[in-house]
Amino acid sequence: MIYKMLVLLTSVTFLTGVVIAQEISPEATEDWSRKPPVVDPGIKGKLPSDAIVLFSGKQDLDHWEHMDGKSVSWKVEGEALVVAPKSGDIQTKQPFGSIQLHVEWKTPDPKEDYSNNMGNSGILLMGLYELQIYESFHDKNEIYYNGQAGSVYKQHIPLVNACLPPQTWQTFDIVFEAPAFNRDTSLKKPAYLTVFHNGVLILHHVELKGPMKYQGYPAYEYHESKLPLRLQEHNSQVSFRNIWLRELTLH
Ligand code: MG
Repeated sequence: MIYKMLVLLTSVTFLTGVVIAQEISPEATEDWSRKPPVVDPGIKGKLPSDAIVLFSGKQDLDHWEHMDGKSVSWKVEGEALVVAPKSGDIQTKQPFGSIQLHVEWKTPDPKEDYSNNMGNSGILLMGLYELQIYESFHDKNEIYYNGQAGSVYKQHIPLVNACLPPQTWQTFDIVFEAPAFNRDTSLKKPAYLTVFHNGVLILHHVELKGPMKYQGYPAYEYHESKLPLRLQEHNSQVSFRNIWLRELTLH
């Protein structure tokens, strides 16, 4: 009896497989609806062909301005753009939505920094959503975990601490999905963030809860679909170099 049931089940499975194979052709699951645009990824030392270079060290600071529209008072020292303490944040003149962003940064000599504010800076995506920069190498300068380097400030703790020592260049490779809003200004889709820190995944498609908020809980408020990218001045002489991005059309 059991043998007969097994034979029957096997036959049904076999027949079902045959039926499915007959009904769905290989072509039926081919998708020709959108041809991906061609991007030259560049060879070693070159950027992708659709990259927008925001600071390379060779340029002046044409892409940037202070929040009040004044020209940037941060210093260009060789290849680096160095925060001038108490000068205020800077932002791009061009607004952006969803982006792939590459930023290199280093924190200053701790002996010359402020003891409770070591290497504090940040990358404010759309000027609102902060990926934190801080001196967090081996947690010597401990801060709440959703405030250390690589955190979404006061929202998400990084998966791991991939920091290098102070005065060492570090990389952030970021994928930022901008939020979307309905016509009635309510939230349609939150923002998401993925970050590699020095090549190590530290944030994996985390949902942002709203703009950065130091005190209180974040909440979304309607804003434009594109806004300037902002770098934070937090009274520490953090340096930046090789800042470039690709605008993303996410499907
Ligand atoms: Mg900060």
